[in-house]
Amino acid sequence: MIHGSLAPVESDSWQSLLASSITDPRTLLERLNLDPALLDPALAASAEFALRVPEPYLARMQPGNPHDPLLRQVLPVGEELLAQPGYQLDPLGEQHSNARPGIIHKYHGRLLLVVSGGCAINCRYCFRRHFPYADNNLSTEQWHQALDYIRQDPSLSEVIYSGGDPLAANDRRLAWLTREIAAIPHIRRLRVHTRLPVVIPQRVTPELIEALCGTRLPVTMVLHCNHANEVDRHLGSAVQRLRAAGITLLNQAVLLRGVNDRLDQQLELSETLGDHGILPYYLHVLDHVKGAQHFHIDDRQAQTLVGQMLGRLPGFLVPRLVREVAGRAGKLPLPVELIEIE
Ligand SMILES: *Cc1c(COP(=O)(O)O)cnc(C)c1O
Ligand code: SF4
Repeated sequence: MIHGSLAPVESDSWQSLLASSITDPRTLLERLNLDPALLDPALAASAEFALRVPEPYLARMQPGNPHDPLLRQVLPVGEELLAQPGYQLDPLGEQHSNARPGIIHKYHGRLLLVVSGGCAINCRYCFRRHFPYADNNLSTEQWHQALDYIRQDPSLSEVIYSGGDPLAANDRRLAWLTREIAAIPHIRRLRVHTRLPVVIPQRVTPELIEALCGTRLPVTMVLHCNHANEVDRHLGSAVQRLRAAGITLLNQAVLLRGVNDRLDQQLELSETLGDHGILPYYLHVLDHVKGAQHFHIDDRQAQTLVGQMLGRLPGFLVPRLVREVAGRAGKLPLPVELIEIE
């Protein structure tokens, strides 16, 4: 067997799908048969935060529909460039919790490891669109320092692979890291927060499953899926393989105007996740990040929406409505009351 960079990269391997992602707004508009008038604003906004969309995600968009809920998550638009008071570069103060390279320690008992700074997709609403990921590409030395930090803090019981997207890292790196972490006695659980299997389901290889599940640690994967249209049969089969390996599957979504802010859209997302054995975990209200204000939904509307979901779905298919607050040890739940409709 030939391993590493010498191995031929199959045309549908996740690495080649990652490499062939669309980054030119012109190409995106042409491929979807969209109005060329969208191009100028897209070019201007992508100069601030680049366009990036992988082919398997593009394939789930409806051609000719400028309001497609998946397109809206990735298409740079002019509204991003409008200044808005109260919208900040680092709304969560993460650059302060980023005490050592690669580590974000802001929750009690849990530590986020920035396993990879890269993402497979650039989501326009992302609260980390201004985060200095370049500073978080770790050398071997720094990886050992991060592991030492975990070893020296017995209050930690869980390690969370985060990013960017942690699954942008290769399987060898993930296998090594997971073995090192499993050798630390006070760590009881491993969690992976990732959007990669959603946007490139081919990422879920047997090697990845082996890398994550090959130790004593129970594994939970929190996917990030915002709309039922993101769930196609490729994602379905990837999820089936993850579950067969014993991984607990959860989902977190962000509440986004024009993407998933209607009751029918949220109900369909929950039902579709349920079809695949994925439990909706969190629904985040949007952080006040500069450039994402056009996605904003006010709290009252968000609370009504989730209250209505409680009246329609089993409790385990209703996500917790939460907000991230800088400097707090956990997410802040927003109060939700059951609302019965007709
Ligand atoms: C909220 C969050 C966590 C921690 O989640 P809990 O389930 O509250 O422990 C970890 N990673 C990311 C990216 C999060 O948004
Ligand atoms: S995949 Fe996650 S971290 Fe990456 S841009 Fe999207 S929301 Fe942000």
